[in-house]
Parts: sequence; structure tokens; C-alpha cells
Amino acid sequence: MRRLRKIKIVATLGPASGDYDTIRKLFEAGADVFRLNMSHGSHDEIGERHRIIRQIEKDTGRPIAILADLQGPKLRLGVFANGEEEISAGQDFRLDLDEAEGDATRVQLPHREIFEALEPGASLLVNDGKIRLKVKEHGADFADCEVMVGGTISNRKGVNVPDVELPLAALSDKDRKDLDFVCKLGVDWLALSFVQRPRDVEEARELCQGRAAILSKIEKPTAVKNFTEIMAVSDGIMVARGDLGVELPVQNVPPIQKRLIRQCRASAKPVIVATQMLESMIESPIPTRAEVSDVATAIYEGADAVMLSAESAAGSYPVEAVSTMNNVAVEVESDPTYIDVIGASRGGEKETVADAIVSAAREIAETTDIRAICCYTQSGTTATLVARERPQVPIIALTSMTGTARRLCLSWGMHCVTTGEVGRFKEAVINAARAARSEGFVTAEDQIVVTAGVPFGQAGTTNILRVAPCEERLIYSTDPG
Ligand code: PGA
Ligand code: MN
Repeated sequence: MRRLRKIKIVATLGPASGDYDTIRKLFEAGADVFRLNMSHGSHDEIGERHRIIRQIEKDTGRPIAILADLQGPKLRLGVFANGEEEISAGQDFRLDLDEAEGDATRVQLPHREIFEALEPGASLLVNDGKIRLKVKEHGADFADCEVMVGGTISNRKGVNVPDVELPLAALSDKDRKDLDFVCKLGVDWLALSFVQRPRDVEEARELCQGRAAILSKIEKPTAVKNFTEIMAVSDGIMVARGDLGVELPVQNVPPIQKRLIRQCRASAKPVIVATQMLESMIESPIPTRAEVSDVATAIYEGADAVMLSAESAAGSYPVEAVSTMNNVAVEVESDPTYIDVIGASRGGEKETVADAIVSAAREIAETTDIRAICCYTQSGTTATLVARERPQVPIIALTSMTGTARRLCLSWGMHCVTTGEVGRFKEAVINAARAARSEGFVTAEDQIVVTAGVPFGQAGTTNILRVAPCEERLIYSTDPG
């Protein structure tokens, strides 16, 4: 189950992947992070999936990250009596606040604020923009629309209103309840949807109280505009191409993806590329060539992770989708062009001792036949700095903090190992060599680089780099004392 690739795979769980056997298969096929989507599923279902992941973590002895994705101020339809309806261009369709189940003429849109903010002529885009409605007339609790582009409209589909600035709070009441629920369960990452400003992130961070790292989903034009400031207050970023491609013209998405990945890497913040990566695999065991190319592009661009949504949550081939991503990654990452491109795009400010030490660690590994960079980390910060270097050798992050090990599962190239508390540097080197050997990255004849901060147990102190042999007898005899 040791990964032979650098990029990480995030798999969303759902009805197609809610049981122990499937989640375990997803993990074995290569999923490093599981996403619990708070937009779908009851707290009982989410709690059950959470319990299963932690059980698999125990059974396999590997840290696994759980990412809870808050729905955010996303507009969603209510439900239909038949689950779905066909609507066609030219017909009228009403959105209102009535909780009654919908039919072919109307459905609930349970967001009071929006009806007031609408204007005649405004577009309402349903289900990733597949269905287009135009507002003809609206009141405080309804909007009568003309269907411009029809199709199948179904339960709780998302609604985007690109023409109107909506007066929505960063976190809805549902988000606050969900946040409280998942933080009590214990999740490693909390993703915020439809972030617009740094203040939105700070608000969530206050409620979260350090119980999870915070990841901002970039899916609004305003988030793209305020990206630098949003990234500065976030622990990670998601290029949420689904809503981004609805709110902005689709052709704007690839350049934004490239820019965001570069900026995140330079700032050592993990970045996920999400949505429609292997969309056709919801129904087909084989991806399209274009999808394979899209996954490959994210890897060449240096993203930390690629994500599956409906492919793993609701599709017919969840395990095959993970395997496909894994296979693409193994192939791309062994391409000499990839190694060139990743090396040539190294950047970002270097200011601290830790920056210099991790950069030296990477250079030593490139210059000699060092087989792994072993990095002691408390908060995880030093490990993400090593990831920023994008070294060719494996990064082994050693930490006594379970939460840190889990969180780092999202970061590029990282193999996370939890160790007991270490008191002396010599002990740290021995532990690192043991971990590298038992993971199969090195043999007793190899050498590794070990970085750590002394005294141990304090965050932000990385101040030692040692090139060490992997054989214990040699570690003792070459110990500087
Ligand atoms: P979602 O976010 O799946 O929660 O909508 C991802 C996206 O919009 O791309
Ligand atoms: Mn979205």
C-alpha cells in the first residue's frame, strides 16, 4: 500500500462507496484522502463513513486524511416528488419557497435572500449550468422563469446566479451545524465552499478552533480576484473547477488553474485540482483520452492532489477511477520531461533556516545517491517546505502528532509515519532509518538525509540536517556525539 507516486488522490465518498469493503478497496487502489461532502448525506451517514475510515486506518496502520467539505452559501433546489423531472426550452418554470415536493412546473429554492436580489432577465443556471432559466417576474418568495435550455432537473441540484451579487454570509446555519458536527467527529481538513474574501476564511477558523486545517475552494470570480489574500489565511486550496466554470466562461478555468497551482507551490500550501477529472467513468470503466490528459496536466503542473467527485461517490466504477488516476500518475512521474518541468518551476521566497535546510536536503539528494529525505515535523510546516522543493526522492514525514500525519497526507510526495516522542537526535536518526527501511524505500547500504528541530517537541525549530547511514551499527559509530 506504499504509494509509488508523488501526487495525492482525494476520493469523495457517497452512496457508491459507503461501506467498509469499498472504502478499503479505494484506499488500496490509491486514495490518500477521503472527502465527506456535507452537501449530500445525513449526519448519520457521514458519521458512519468517518468511523469506517478510522477503522481502515487502524487495520492498515496508515494515516489517512479526512476532508469535510462544507456546502457553503451554495444555492440548491429542494426535492421533487419523482426525484427528477424533464423540462424543456420555452416552457415556464417557477422557483419558490414552498416546501412541497416539486413537479414539472415548479420546485422549491430554499433561499429567501435570493428572491429579493434577483432582477428580471437574470440567468439562473441549474446543475453545473446544464439547465438555463431566465427570470421573467419575481416577488419576495418566488421567481417565474422561462426555460432557455432544458433537460433533466433533479433533487438538490446547485443553482448559480452569475449576474447578481448575492448578499450571502460565508457560512449558512447548516454550515455552522455541519462544522460543529465534523469538528466533534474529528476531521483533518475543513473545506469552505464559495469563499469570496479572506474574512470568510477567518470566520471559519474562529469556529474551528484549531481542530482542523482550513482549505478554501476557489469557485467564485471574487475568490480569483482576492486569491493572494485568501491563500495567505488558508492552509490549503482547491481549484473547484465545477462552479468556477459555471460562474466564469469555461475557457478561463485552465489559465486560472495554472496560476493558482504555481502560487500555492511557491507558498508551500497544498493545492487540489477538482471536478470532472474522470467524469465519463461515472458510467464507463474506461476514461476518455481527454480526461487522462487532464489528470496528466494537473500532475505536470505540480498540483499536490487530484480529486474524484461523483466518479467515486456515486458512479459505477469508483475503484477503477482511483486506479486510473494512480496509473496516470505513475506514468507521468517517470517521464523525464516531468522531472525537468517540476525542477525548472521551483520558486517562492526563502527566508528562514528551515527553508535553507530543506533546500539543502533536496540538493544533497540530487547530487548524491541519497534515497529519502526524512523530516521531523510537529506542526507539519517543515514537511510542506520539503514538498515545495518537489524532490525526486520520497519525503518521509515523521511526527508524534497523529493530526499532523493525517493532514500531510494531502501534500505532494509525502509518506507520513507516526513515531513516539523522541528525546535525542541520535534516536531520531535511528527511527528515521527504521521507517525508511520498513517502508521499503532504502536498504541497510543506503544513506538518507534527516532534518529535525532540536530541542524536540517545539514547532518551527528545524535547525539540523544530517546525512546518515541506514544501518544501525553505522549510525552509532558515525554519530557526531
Ligand atoms: P463541489 O465543489 O463539488 O462541492 O461543488 C467542487 C467544484 O465546484 O468544482
Ligand atoms: Mn463547487
